[in-house]
Amino acid sequence: MTTTPVTCPLDCADACGMLVESDAQQRFVALRGNPSHGYSRGVLCGKTALYGELLNSSERLLQPLVRRGSKAGGSLEPASWDEALARIVERVAPLRATPERILALWYAGNMGRIQRFFPLRVMHALGATNVDGGLCDNSTTAGYECVFGGAYGADLEQVDDCDFVLLWGCDMARTVQHLQPAVQRLARRGVSVVAIDIYRTDTIQALERWGGRGVLVKPGSDAALALGIARLAFERGYVDREFLAQRCLGGATFEAHVRSGHDLAWVEQATGVPAATVSELADLLGRARRFLLKTGIGFGRRRVGAMSMRAIASLVAVLGRPECMHYESFSCFQLEDSVIERADLRPPHSRADVIQHVKVGRELESGRFGAVFVWGHNPAVTCPESLRVRGGLGREDVFVVVHEQFRTETAELADVVLPATFAMENDDLYRSYGHRRLQRARKACEPPPGPRSNVDAFAAIAKALGLPRACHDVRAEQLVDELLAASSRHLDEGQLAALERGESVKVSQPRGEGVGTPSGKIELVSNRAAARGQPALATYVPDDGALGRGRFWLVCAPSVHTHNSTFSHSARHIRRRGEVRAWLHAEDARELGASDGDALVLSNELASLTVRAGISERMPRGLVRIDGVPRAEDTPERVGVNALVSGETSDLGESNSLYSTRVDVRRA
Ligand code: SF4
Repeated sequence: MTTTPVTCPLDCADACGMLVESDAQQRFVALRGNPSHGYSRGVLCGKTALYGELLNSSERLLQPLVRRGSKAGGSLEPASWDEALARIVERVAPLRATPERILALWYAGNMGRIQRFFPLRVMHALGATNVDGGLCDNSTTAGYECVFGGAYGADLEQVDDCDFVLLWGCDMARTVQHLQPAVQRLARRGVSVVAIDIYRTDTIQALERWGGRGVLVKPGSDAALALGIARLAFERGYVDREFLAQRCLGGATFEAHVRSGHDLAWVEQATGVPAATVSELADLLGRARRFLLKTGIGFGRRRVGAMSMRAIASLVAVLGRPECMHYESFSCFQLEDSVIERADLRPPHSRADVIQHVKVGRELESGRFGAVFVWGHNPAVTCPESLRVRGGLGREDVFVVVHEQFRTETAELADVVLPATFAMENDDLYRSYGHRRLQRARKACEPPPGPRSNVDAFAAIAKALGLPRACHDVRAEQLVDELLAASSRHLDEGQLAALERGESVKVSQPRGEGVGTPSGKIELVSNRAAARGQPALATYVPDDGALGRGRFWLVCAPSVHTHNSTFSHSARHIRRRGEVRAWLHAEDARELGASDGDALVLSNELASLTVRAGISERMPRGLVRIDGVPRAEDTPERVGVNALVSGETSDLGESNSLYSTRVDVRRA
């Protein structure tokens, strides 16, 4: 038996260390947590502990599929790689004179730097149009960067001496599970631990068991709460005046701004948080010797997501404690991904177009694209306006190539499906965006005959299309070497040697906070935001519900049993997840005349879908929650929940406004 250290490849901040066991024939045997990983310490979440279910699934794609007949009436049939590649050449080669008609449609199905980004090299060499990736955290990143520049923040491995923990828009129990033991230890020691969210999340329930508590805010009102606390910080002397003067831009202007309004009565009215609680939060933050303010991206996937983050970051800045806040940590790594992507290979006549990912349905429907390459992504259920995405991919004049492990909803719309390997069947390099660890993962087991890695599949496409040698004369192992060599000035010899041994290596914050803002200071006044039509100061702007008029806010919460649409082809994961429910408050259900288990129709201007009601004391009035990304087959209409989500973007970052969705609800 051989044991190989690897990293969990899923799009999750914890980027856990794993050990893969393989037999003498290098076949996958088992997988478990790696106890020597400094952050995850041998523990995997429940869904990934069962990852082997995917590798050994009978539903796994083992050979290419090509469409025989039309999309409307034809079917996907098994084919050889040669036939699949010949089909691609036949349909894509004629588009090379107008390469902007080819779309690279990809996301984060595999977080390895090589497997995720190498296909882009091939797309660049074709001259294809790209997506901007605004499906997740671009608004919160844009807001954070307005104030702080890079995303560094607190070291999540060093929180045990905190004397106050505030989790803001962060359902730790579902999304940052490895922070839980430290938070639990602190709570049990009597440290105040509070979570701010829009419903009683799993995290709030856990805190209540440990002696902590939750604070519920009205959806989209986080900026009002942060500005109200900032006003109290100025009034009560919690502001670090020296820090404000020396390290921040616009301190006096910001102080005048928050003092000009944002009193307790106003905050209570705007947020629904009792004035006494707002006051208490200000004291807890202001008096803490060292706090941890951990934000998630829950408040960020909104029309006002960037502004909410700017307000919270500005609050932390005036307290003089940027090192106590954690949003993400990706700026610590400074990896030179450009050597993998190679945008320099673009043909001179290509336009380097980039479209908004959240509007990809509209773009596909328009007929603008003649060919689409999809990898690491299931846009037919995970993108906003997913009915339009499906309509666009389903056009007879759009040639769709999907590189996938299973026949996903997107693969079903393809002309060619190429079978993909799993991450542990490839070499790669992984970094977290939550903690500060980097790990080189060697190929831990052999894939079955048929599936190819992202690198090998796209190299084969490149060769068939006659693209430059740099696109096909490559191996993943060599690409990891190139990426590390290009990034090596940020890593010392000891770290590089540890990476060679497969160890997770902790990087340090390269420079001080504020780096990356135009002024080089922490910016409470942001001319960059103003130039993009936003207020220069963090300002409360009510969420407009993405212009929807439904009575309920729709909360598409993360699932603890699946990972977006990953694990949708594992019967065990789906059993654990159980039936898809629309959770709502008992009074709302009563007004709708609905009981637990009744079929409810959720609808808005975009779509309508039917889900069984779940009555939950965890839900406040006016919210309806669906966990995870249900499969299309989980509703009678055979559409996923993102059919209800609009393609309207957030205030900055051209990001999704998932949680701004409004729906009407009625009994079926
Ligand atoms: S999904 Fe997240 S918590 Fe689960 S094993 Fe992967 S990195 Fe760890």
